[in-house]
Amino acid sequence: MKSKPETAHVLVVDDEEGIRIGAERILLRMGLKVLTAARGNEALDIMEREDVSIVLLDLKMPGIDGMQVLKRIRENNLNILVIVITGYATVETAIEAMKQGAYDFIAKPFEPDHLRIVVNRAREKIMLTFEAETLDIERKRTLADLGTEKSRVRTIIESLPNGIVVTNSSGQVALMNPAFLRHIGFDPPCVTTGEHIGHYVKDDGFCRLVMEISQGKHLDEGDVPTYEFSTADGKYLMARGRHVLGDENECLGAVVAIEDITALKVLDRLKSEFVAKVSHELRSPLSTIHEQIAVVLKDMAGEESNDEKLILARAKEKTSGLISLIGDLLDLSRIEAGAVYQEPKMVNISILLKNIIDFLNTRAKNKQQTLVLELPDYPLPSLTTDPMALESIFGNLITNAINYTQKGGGIIVTAGLAENNLIVKVKDNGFGIEQVYMDKIFDKFFRVKNEKTRLITGTGLGLPIVKGLLNDLCGSISVESAPGKGSVFTVSIPVKK
Ligand code: ADP
Repeated sequence: MKSKPETAHVLVVDDEEGIRIGAERILLRMGLKVLTAARGNEALDIMEREDVSIVLLDLKMPGIDGMQVLKRIRENNLNILVIVITGYATVETAIEAMKQGAYDFIAKPFEPDHLRIVVNRAREKIMLTFEAETLDIERKRTLADLGTEKSRVRTIIESLPNGIVVTNSSGQVALMNPAFLRHIGFDPPCVTTGEHIGHYVKDDGFCRLVMEISQGKHLDEGDVPTYEFSTADGKYLMARGRHVLGDENECLGAVVAIEDITALKVLDRLKSEFVAKVSHELRSPLSTIHEQIAVVLKDMAGEESNDEKLILARAKEKTSGLISLIGDLLDLSRIEAGAVYQEPKMVNISILLKNIIDFLNTRAKNKQQTLVLELPDYPLPSLTTDPMALESIFGNLITNAINYTQKGGGIIVTAGLAENNLIVKVKDNGFGIEQVYMDKIFDKFFRVKNEKTRLITGTGLGLPIVKGLLNDLCGSISVESAPGKGSVFTVSIPVKK
């Protein structure tokens, strides 16, 4: 880069000593660094040695004249502004010099002010050129930095083990990394972007998720929408998506990460199989122990309450808890293995709900609770499904409502139809559930532990069973709850027309 213009010299080249001395004095007073030369040769030597930015050049000199000096400056491509000094008679020559690349001219004899104006103009021009060059260098460096940053980010995305796909708001793919292409069964280098997501991934649910995110749905929800799907070659993939937001927070598209969870799925299946096997092996001996304790306790019925009787009663209670845990575990592993259905039958929902409520009413009455069923004034359609699955779903929800509602509370079960879906609501005015636990209660073995629930026995498997069964029926469950006010569990099951 060139040195700063302030540090460069002004060179006065004139064979007249008076002009040289006069100009030098004026320029020195302007705070400039000045050099002088009486001949063209001398001037060219100085320019080779010193940092010169402006030359005041007399055209008429003995030896090498001003025009030749100017020519040499241009030939050597020196970044020097030449101001030609000329007599009245040689104005034409001055114009010719301007054509040859001189920057300005000044006629002899000149006033100090005139010289100052011409030199200042040249200095300004030099300053502006210097600043423009500095800015240009800066701009090029910023662009180079940006380029490096961009290619760095690209390299990182390309080498991620997880698949990444980015779409615009119409669902067209703007970026896919090699891992994404491999996950969905494409050969990375041969596939180009630009098509709709459905062109690359044939799973409807996945494409729906991408479209929903691309168009700005799920925007208010704090959590990241997820979707699990399998590919034709037996791989299980988990997709998690986020919006791409613009400066004004508008949705520009979606970025979706895909993870291969096949190994986790296999592990999960092995775990379920193991649990099922162990549970199965434990169930018979445990039932036998339970029955035998019951027999012994029956024999002791006449005796007064004593320590042995108390220990046996506690043991019976514990074995009964274990038997119900094993029952739940077996149910859950059957659901997870996709083997829920017994015999699909025509099920009359009103009758099924009435029977469950009749059965559980004794339990509710023991806690002085009211348990009522409210049916609509139109007939509910029958469902062709496994009645045991429905009994398990509603039985679990109503039992929970009874368990997690205080003495004297109330439970209302309502049923109705909405857009080809059977909607059953189980509403209680019991303990309620804190917002933080709302998602967790559907996890296996999760139980809310607080002062109110401490003494209530349970396995933490009821709601996972309900959710698993509803999944198989293509239904869904949602919950609204407020601590101290109660909960409403809403089940929706599609009714085939
Ligand atoms: P369990 O009832 O055997 O503990 P669940 O899976 O059925 O297991 O329920 C999980 C947890 O959800 C319960 O331990 C309880 O804390 C909470 N829960 C379920 N239903 C209700 C309800 N109606 N009111 C308040 N809490 C509930």
